[in-house]
Amino acid sequence: MSLMSNEFDTKKIHSGYDPKNFGYSATVPIFQSVAFDLENTERADQIVRNELPGSFMYSRVSNPTVDIFEKRINDLDGGVGAVAVASGMAAITYAVLNVAEGGGRIIAPLDIYGASLDEFRTLLPKYNINFDFVENISDFDKIQELIRPDTKAIYVESVSNPITNIADISQLAELAHKNKIPLIVDNTFPTPYLFNPIKFGADIVVYSSTKGISGHGNVVSGIIVDGGKFEWTKEKFPQFFEPELTLDEEGREDSSFVGVFGKKAFIAHLRTKYLRLMGAVLNPFAAYLGLLGLETLSERINKEVLTALKIAQYFRKK
Ligand SMILES: *Cc1c(COP(=O)(O)O)cnc(C)c1O
Repeated sequence: MSLMSNEFDTKKIHSGYDPKNFGYSATVPIFQSVAFDLENTERADQIVRNELPGSFMYSRVSNPTVDIFEKRINDLDGGVGAVAVASGMAAITYAVLNVAEGGGRIIAPLDIYGASLDEFRTLLPKYNINFDFVENISDFDKIQELIRPDTKAIYVESVSNPITNIADISQLAELAHKNKIPLIVDNTFPTPYLFNPIKFGADIVVYSSTKGISGHGNVVSGIIVDGGKFEWTKEKFPQFFEPELTLDEEGREDSSFVGVFGKKAFIAHLRTKYLRLMGAVLNPFAAYLGLLGLETLSERINKEVLTALKIAQYFRKK
């Protein structure tokens, strides 16, 4: 994605929103409603069976304003689906729980956002998810050495917070895929404008959209994007292959997330099991602020990049 991409600028303002479905409102409306009318039992039945995409029941699971924010970020990143949540930490927690449900190991660098490091070191081990930390995320031999049968993913920040180490996403993706595990990337710092991890092989992208994406310091939010290319295996990731009660319909042979959602199994499982049951939902007004911030993302980042360059040039001359 180049700094001058017109395509990006069109998408950041229009993706995921069709005004004619919303009374031709030029701005995305805020749907400040918890529940949505089901009209009649037939339509309710179709919604429950996932046969009416774009329909809504209850805002803990999905909401029209939040849906547009999700579709827009998903489109900017080239994913197959996204789930917005109440904070960047909720995005990270849900992505990690979703991939390593039931326990396992994850490889991550020590150089990551403080709250992520604290969670990985002290909280998730109590849920049987243990981390193998590396000093240098570009030490691929060391990472390979650490991969065990119960390793479920590699986790990395594309540009680390705070010391701005840059990870080699292509190489890490290759290494992860060779070992049949996904690569999860926290892409908060670059935002989808400067870098799209999925295009470089990453499988899952998480954001604190509290930061660059919304950009005005007025909303805490997070989002998870699914690249949809990872081949989940039954042995290592049984959660996507088990029969699922909410998907069990008459005449349906395979009621698992992979059976019903195919390439979108990860993100569908995350919405149904983690967003719906643990409930760190993004509210419609917060999604609206995220969309509003997104409209100036490239303008703001261009300016930030130019300022950073000027500072770097100044120090180089010193
Ligand atoms: C801020 C930040 C988070 C946490 O996001 P919140 O929205 O504050 O929960 C996670 N990762 C990175 C890289 C961050 O900068």
